Amino acid sequence: LDRRKAVALQVMETIEKAGYEAYLVGGCVRDHLLQKIPTDYDIATSARPEVIQSLFVRTVPTGLKHGTVTVLQDAIPIEVTTFRVEGDYQDHRRPQHVRFVSLLKEDLARRDFTFNAMAEDRQGKIIDYFSGLRDLERKVVRTVGDPQARFREDPLRMVRAARFANQFSFQLDPSTEQAMCRLKQECIYLSVERVTAEIEKIWATPNCSIGIELLVRCGLLYTLPPFYKWELPVDLDPSGLSNMDPMQDRIVRWAGLLFFCQVKPEQIGTYLLDLRLSRRDQVRIKACFALGSRWKVEDERTMKGWLLRYGLETVQRAGSFTSCFDPQIGDTVLPQLEKWWSELIVKGESELAIDGKELLEVCGGPPGPWIKQTLHHLLEQVALGAIGNDRSTLLKEGCRFGKSYPR
Ligand code: ATP
Ligand code: MG
Repeated sequence: LDRRKAVALQVMETIEKAGYEAYLVGGCVRDHLLQKIPTDYDIATSARPEVIQSLFVRTVPTGLKHGTVTVLQDAIPIEVTTFRVEGDYQDHRRPQHVRFVSLLKEDLARRDFTFNAMAEDRQGKIIDYFSGLRDLERKVVRTVGDPQARFREDPLRMVRAARFANQFSFQLDPSTEQAMCRLKQECIYLSVERVTAEIEKIWATPNCSIGIELLVRCGLLYTLPPFYKWELPVDLDPSGLSNMDPMQDRIVRWAGLLFFCQVKPEQIGTYLLDLRLSRRDQVRIKACFALGSRWKVEDERTMKGWLLRYGLETVQRAGSFTSCFDPQIGDTVLPQLEKWWSELIVKGESELAIDGKELLEVCGGPPGPWIKQTLHHLLEQVALGAIGNDRSTLLKEGCRFGKSYPR
């Protein structure tokens, strides 16, 4: 079975033998009940972080401020967090069991949604004070306690509600949804990173449109950083978003979301900076968006030129992006791309029989952008089979082309 769970149970046993209590909590309990594989195993305990550090050989103080210590056992990380008591942590040894139960309950009550607020003991018993099991069965996202109060406490929970509804194909409980629509304005103070992290989790699911549609429907997209800065059109229509669902690639989905927000190609650089994605992601999303926006004639010659210039992956992404809005491209052009790619005789300048240095030596003249242009011209000629890939042919054609290039 899941080795990580076995390790988590071992960790719990060690804690219990030292006289404290320990429970599996949060996502891993929920995911087991949904018969999904948890991303990580979290333990809540009555022992203070120092106690946890003394009980295990390998620990990392990942969040001492929040009472969290990561225990490493057989290279598997398990997060162990002390029950929180009014901002402080106290040791709670047995046998004050009654106090314990109330501590566990308090810990669970601080959690966002009922299905995230269950615990499981070492014997596999589910502790469910807030009807999380019932909500899992009803397929409902519902806050623990009053939704308005909980969303005010941490507005990110509104985005998480949409994320979980998306991830599990659940409905929002009516009062939870109402509170989201009512309190959307609170979101403007969230950090961009927390918001994009939740959107990434939406991208990681097959039907991402459900999540984005919810954000649009409640008006959250208009109040979330950095989106609210962009002054989005008030009449965004989420009905076309489901076209994004077949596109599993997160780069394509980011590009699709920006397109949906009616970002213009010349704005995309700034908007990507606003999103604080990695430099690498920014480059890839920009290429996907730019190429996709220019996608008009999909003849073989043009496409082979693009493949040589941008590479297979980028062109495939741009094609996927375009097919969100023009399904015909997905049906006809996308399957062709790999074939066209394989037909290219060479795929990069490094495969040419000459390099820029040789070109400069033989053709003469000051170095400059003409070298790059000439090499690309030669690459196209060779790749498409117009000329052979041998030194003398390349130098001859290279010098001819290079001379015609303005220096
Ligand atoms: P995933 O499987 O995507 O990791 P998760 O439920 O484990 O989902 P995390 O963000 O890893 O989500 O959080 C772990 C647990 O911590 C949650 O199950 C929930 O109980 C609690 N939690 C996380 N974020 C919040 C929040 N903003 N407010 C209240 N509780 C939260
Ligand atoms: Mg988690």
